[in-house]
Amino acid sequence: MNPSNSKTDKLAIDGGTPVRSQPLPSNFPGANVMGEEEARHAEKVIMARSPFRFYGSDPQYAVQQLETMISKHVDVSYVLGVTSATAGIIVALKALGIGYGDKVIVPSITFIASATAVICCGAVPVFAEVDESLSLDPSDLSRVMDPNVKAIIAVPLLGTPVDMDSIMAFAESNGIAVIEDVAQSCGIMYKGRHQGTIGDIGVFSFQMNKILTAGEGGAVLTNNPKLFERAVRYHDQGMFRPAMKSHFELDIESDEIGAFAGENYRMSEITGAVLIEQWQKLDTLLSNTRRHGKRIKQELRANLPNLKLRDSCDEEGELGSHIAMILPSPERAKQFTQTLQAENIQCMILYQGLPVYRFPSIYYQRTAEKGFNPFDYPFDKPVKYEAGMCPRSESLIARTVFVPISASLKDSDVEDIINGITKVYRGLGWN
Ligand SMILES: *Cc1c(COP(=O)(O)O)cnc(C)c1O
Repeated sequence: MNPSNSKTDKLAIDGGTPVRSQPLPSNFPGANVMGEEEARHAEKVIMARSPFRFYGSDPQYAVQQLETMISKHVDVSYVLGVTSATAGIIVALKALGIGYGDKVIVPSITFIASATAVICCGAVPVFAEVDESLSLDPSDLSRVMDPNVKAIIAVPLLGTPVDMDSIMAFAESNGIAVIEDVAQSCGIMYKGRHQGTIGDIGVFSFQMNKILTAGEGGAVLTNNPKLFERAVRYHDQGMFRPAMKSHFELDIESDEIGAFAGENYRMSEITGAVLIEQWQKLDTLLSNTRRHGKRIKQELRANLPNLKLRDSCDEEGELGSHIAMILPSPERAKQFTQTLQAENIQCMILYQGLPVYRFPSIYYQRTAEKGFNPFDYPFDKPVKYEAGMCPRSESLIARTVFVPISASLKDSDVEDIINGITKVYRGLGWN
């Protein structure tokens, strides 16, 4: 390619020839590489007629295998398969004993579940700013800290790590817990360690939009045996079954002493079987997105010195699953998105350009409960949400354009993305 030629190219939105004649392949990294291997594993479970993880006529222990596999791969003591990351966050909060009368710090830019899971546990989210990496800004934590705050949820947003050293230091000095919501960024590293294993508890998602998938699914990770016991109990009706004890060689109190009212967030064997195969594809998937992501960033920096890419606290740990460009205004972000889409390069403004507290269920503090509302707790500092509450986050999310980088892109697709962004940025006269 010769980027200097693209300068004179007429934009597709003005009737020029688009950089690509066809849209890029859809960005479902795990689903795109599903095949016979996943089918064979699922078939084994089905033909054994044993789709439940704890017993059956010929149990295959797929979920157990998956848990062992993840625990070795990311170097964490305990892993629990669950039905989703939302379930995983709830299980994590319950394991930490967080509920009515507690507050949890949540980044103002994240998927709605990071905040609503807190509310569903009877606690209340308080929102901190993100910085230009679009992750929780450690320097804003003290602004929202008070004696009711019991935990921080850190979210590596679409493939860029969170500054965990600063967050852990703040949490330790204030005696509060850290949950890593790694739903979007399975496999992401921070300073050589897997995110999800740095805080007290981590959570992965295996829903269709995430890196690996079985349609639905999630995992809870921790190095703390007590938290693991409580997580297992909450996800399985308060029980800690003998199979779980031997699986992780834990000495657990009898149900007579340890049981409490739980729910059912157990992972099915069919999900587990599919994920065993998916997990084995993780490294290949990520080496592709990392290679593509690095190349795109490098060339964009060379071609477009004025284009602001999101910051990163650890470029080596990034997934490369998304390129994020921070434009000077929401109007420009919209114009950029429409112009780039006309070139057949997929891109988006995330979450409708809104911070998570602007979504109605959170903003209006509505729950499904009758006669009980977590927000009614007599906090010294009552919790209210208002527009303008986190001005930097509101500004950033409305003017950031994300371009998904699928693992299944060919080198020529990657060139199209570089050419498309370069053409549009120059074509709009912004360079
Ligand atoms: C998708 C997502 C979740 C929820 O994951 P599910 O498995 O669909 O429940 C939670 N947090 C973040 C940041 C997410 O992106």
